[in-house]
Amino acid sequence: MIVVMKSHASEADIQAVIRMVEDLEYSAHVIRGVERTVVACVGEERGEAHSLQHLESVSGVERVMPVLRSFKLASREVRPEGSRIIVGGVEIGGPRITVIAGPCAVESDTQVNGAADGVKSAGAHLLRGGAYKPRTSPYTFQGMEDEGLVLLENAGRRVGLPVVTEIMDAHDIELVAEHADMLQVGARNAQNFSLLRRLGKIKKPVLLKRGMATKIEEFLMAAEYILSAGNPNVVLCERGIRTFETATRNTLDLNAVPLLKEWTHLPVLVDPSHGTGVWSLVTPMALASIAAGADGLLIEVHPDPLKALSDGPQQLKPKRFAALMAALKPVALAVGRTL
Ligand code: PEP
Ligand code: MN
Repeated sequence: MIVVMKSHASEADIQAVIRMVEDLEYSAHVIRGVERTVVACVGEERGEAHSLQHLESVSGVERVMPVLRSFKLASREVRPEGSRIIVGGVEIGGPRITVIAGPCAVESDTQVNGAADGVKSAGAHLLRGGAYKPRTSPYTFQGMEDEGLVLLENAGRRVGLPVVTEIMDAHDIELVAEHADMLQVGARNAQNFSLLRRLGKIKKPVLLKRGMATKIEEFLMAAEYILSAGNPNVVLCERGIRTFETATRNTLDLNAVPLLKEWTHLPVLVDPSHGTGVWSLVTPMALASIAAGADGLLIEVHPDPLKALSDGPQQLKPKRFAALMAALKPVALAVGRTL
């Protein structure tokens, strides 16, 4: 259920409602919108004695209504205007398209700094790079781990970009959060519920990727795990799903973009690098993603893709990334966004 407060409700009214909701043994999540505040009540419905409906007569309350979808805090019903998430000073979900770019994996000081220079000069807003890599084979490069985290942090700091990196193991959350501005949950951990719950206990923004066989509703339920545990800073990322098609690495599901924008207030990014697996398809699908309403992109960029230790075939050279950014501008403007 959600308790929609009147637009002129006072802070005391809101606090009183929170106390009443908690007395009824629900957890209260306050969502402060531009127009009005909503108190989302999460918990099992336990019959008449615990009914929230009578809060409708409480001072400052406009109405009490059920959230019909299975995801509650992620639902656009609780925040019609859309969330804006701040990552190291960069806003995601506002009018400006946000571009996260950098190598698949941090491989060396020279490599990550080369990528950082390239993406910064082309106009990216955040630098990415994996330090802990979720590889299909245990015999391939697994990432530089703790050392990679520090290299990424230093490269980002040097060029003035906040950094995003993948978190694989809940035990590493504290360490990774110390070095990174945003923690990425990869496709392979998209339904690792204990990891998601633990990420709900921190305030650092989380970039949640869609699992390769995760339905859109399940994707939003995964976000709900983080939100309901207390972290409102979640950004979604469509990165392709596995289908019968093998000509591309994954099938980028662009249907998901406008559908997610209808169903949720969370910002939606698209990763056409993993979505296609083919560098020559990255720019066209990046443009299509923005045309479809995405709030931004995640693009893999490597100074020398032929020598990449992971995902070489889909990484762009810095020069091609700069061309992508130039091509993006008119598309962003055409859909009422800026870059
Ligand atoms: C990545 O971003 O490098 C990555 C491993 O992505 P995904 O989890 O989407 O496969
Ligand atoms: Mn990758």
